[in-house]
Amino acid sequence: MNIIVCIKQVPDVKEVSWDPKTGSLIRKGIPSIINPNDKNAIEAALQLRERHGGEVTVLSMGPSQVEDALREALGMGVDKAIQLTSKEFAGSDTWATSYALGLAVRKIAQYDLIICGKEAIDGMTAQVGPQLAECLNIPQLTYALEIEVTNSKVKIKQKLGDFHRLLEAPMPALITVEREANKPRVAPMDTILEAYGKEITLWDADDLDGEDENFGLKGSPTKLTRVYTPKLIKGKVEMLEGGPEEAARKCVEKIRARYII
Ligand SMILES: Cc1cc2nc3c(=O)[nH]c(=O)nc-3n(C[C@H](O)[C@H](O)[C@H](O)COP(=O)(O)OP(=O)(O)OC[C@H]3O[C@@H](n4cnc5c(N)ncnc54)[C@H](O)[C@@H]3O)c2cc1C
Repeated sequence: MNIIVCIKQVPDVKEVSWDPKTGSLIRKGIPSIINPNDKNAIEAALQLRERHGGEVTVLSMGPSQVEDALREALGMGVDKAIQLTSKEFAGSDTWATSYALGLAVRKIAQYDLIICGKEAIDGMTAQVGPQLAECLNIPQLTYALEIEVTNSKVKIKQKLGDFHRLLEAPMPALITVEREANKPRVAPMDTILEAYGKEITLWDADDLDGEDENFGLKGSPTKLTRVYTPKLIKGKVEMLEGGPEEAARKCVEKIRARYII
């Protein structure tokens, strides 16, 4: 079984701050990491390979530093890595990102499953997985907690709020995984160092059979008009005296008095 895992390199948001004047992220000096949820996608793919054999290929679009994320994925045990880097891809919104990833998947050609994280911790749209499935015209199974493959079909347990659904689709198909799906293995330092000796396939816009006007900023219908921190509404805090029951009763009375319930 051949599995493609899409991974995004993101700034480590624990370390990120905003420039209050420009409203933009201060990325300078911020370490980059594999999007945490994409490590769950890698882990899911490696577990499927352990059960069914085959190959796992990681695919990432981004600037040249994306190489580090791909090396770490190789260190975790994936078989191949493909990096999409080109000045034409700069400024891609989720549509243009999915378009370029879709062309790369078509070029890879032989695949049974694509696994993405549910969402990236920086952009947080959760759009790229579903849009990529649409680009490729294949079924999408989102928010997977568990994945099972039998007889050319894939089944997942999907997390939808407080309840679960069991979904099934023929392969090839695309899955997005939840953070709770598994515990990603940690790549030992020596295998990461070994991964620096492995080959990474590098594709630019010319290697993809696409239309130039659909790449990058030109091909991005989303326009970011403003980024800002919403003003915090500061309210008066009132402490309710008494034990839990008495405090809860007083709280209900106060809410009733304001006709909220
Ligand atoms: C007008 C505009 C310009 C932008 N310009 C840039 C820019 O120049 N540089 C930049 O870094 N961002 C840019 N962005 C942000 C960029 O669009 C998003 O970061 C990107 O499309 C992914 O969206 P997301 O972060 O919401 O990912 P989500 O949709 O939340 O990600 C879901 C999953 O999709 C997969 N995935 C997402 N992105 C990639 C990727 N690049 N490669 C492989 N797999 C991926 C991962 O598995 C991930 O877990 C721009 C956005 C806009 C609106």
